[in-house]
Amino acid sequence: MTSNDVDVIVVGGGIGGLSNALALTRKGLRVRVLERAQEFGEVGAGLQIAPNCTRILDRWGLLDEITSLGVLPENIVMKDAVDGSVLTRLDLHDVERRYGFPYMVIHRSDLHGTLLRACREAGVDLVTDVAVTGYEQAPGGAVAVHDGGGEHGAVVIAADGLHSVARRILSDDEPVNSAYVAYRGAVPFDRVADLDVHTKDVVVYVGPRCHFVQYPLRQGEMFNQVAVFESGRALAGEADWGTPDELDAAFEGACEQVRAGLPLMWRDRWWRMFDRDPIMNWVSGRIVLTGDAAHPPLQYLAQGAVMAIEDAWVLSEHVGGAGGDWDAALAAYNAVRTEHCRRVLTTARAWGELWHHDGDKRLWRNGVLRGRDVHDYAYVDWLFGPTALTPEQEPPMFRTG
Ligand code: FAD
Repeated sequence: MTSNDVDVIVVGGGIGGLSNALALTRKGLRVRVLERAQEFGEVGAGLQIAPNCTRILDRWGLLDEITSLGVLPENIVMKDAVDGSVLTRLDLHDVERRYGFPYMVIHRSDLHGTLLRACREAGVDLVTDVAVTGYEQAPGGAVAVHDGGGEHGAVVIAADGLHSVARRILSDDEPVNSAYVAYRGAVPFDRVADLDVHTKDVVVYVGPRCHFVQYPLRQGEMFNQVAVFESGRALAGEADWGTPDELDAAFEGACEQVRAGLPLMWRDRWWRMFDRDPIMNWVSGRIVLTGDAAHPPLQYLAQGAVMAIEDAWVLSEHVGGAGGDWDAALAAYNAVRTEHCRRVLTTARAWGELWHHDGDKRLWRNGVLRGRDVHDYAYVDWLFGPTALTPEQEPPMFRTG
């Protein structure tokens, strides 16, 4: 067993794991990341990151680099997927003025690559091809167990995603199948130049049991699309669900702008969408959950990676540096993050239901959204404001009056 040469073991080198490694190394701790893949990397396309995330990236000195790689859109526009009409929007210049930091869209691999480079520069020990199979408490810390033995740290941070091995120590829950599936596709911008697309906005078309998202990436050189729909075969309990024939059928009733974008989706892979019920304890001795291992959401609020980055910042602020009181830091982290993320998980489910209404409910939803004052931030203040370090700092979920 390796020991004493590092303070912290992080299991998983996704956005969550690297963020923890970076934040704690910057506090003077020696951190090792164990990633099961052969190489560090991210699969997928675009990612929306709200001001509660860009604020933290700024504190880590990464915001300029991230901004040079991403796009600062002008609006988030919500449209009806059936008739293409505008329902409401968020003015993102206004958002930046209100929260002090921008709302950005960025290629996942660019955000991950920036974190990886920053980890390397900070001196994080980055290890690939190590799959952690179990965890043990140990004197003065905990051990992440793998085929080659184990790695001891004063703390082991499990950032091992939706199917986390570490989560089994704390809960016997399983991922919850939403029966929805996502198709993605990021293409060079010239592939959409002749289509009726917004070049400077995030656009979300919401429709019956489906939605479609579009936004520019990489300073406008690329265009990102996400098509999400409920699979009838998933609901029927069939194993083979979410296939391209279901994609085509799901959007048959969509407006022309949506249907024009569908042929550009990647059709050789798709992402079945699972979340988990919230759990209110992420700490067992010196083993702690973070990111999707702790709180995998449905993606409707675009806060999954954002919450992972917030987790890292909050934990590192409570640890405060080498020689800090780990038990107190873990308790403080658990006290504030579990409740915030519980709210995000349950709100994301409700927000998705609203998006996917049909019939009279769809008409009601459209009326409510059209009637919304576009400068009303009651529903996003609790998300986009500064990340709370204590439960007392956590803003009310929705401001009234
Ligand atoms: P992961 O990205 O799952 O990383 C886990 C890492 O751990 C992986 O590298 C894996 O290989 C490694 N690992 C797993 N098991 C082991 C093991 N046993 N040993 C060693 N290593 C292991 N979020 C946003 O903030 N904004 C968005 O716009 C957004 N859009 C989304 C759109 C879609 C369609 C989906 C599906 C998700 C979206 N999300 C978004 C959510 C976001 O992608 C995730 O919440 C985020 O990537 C979670 O990061 P993580 O590091 O916690 O987990």
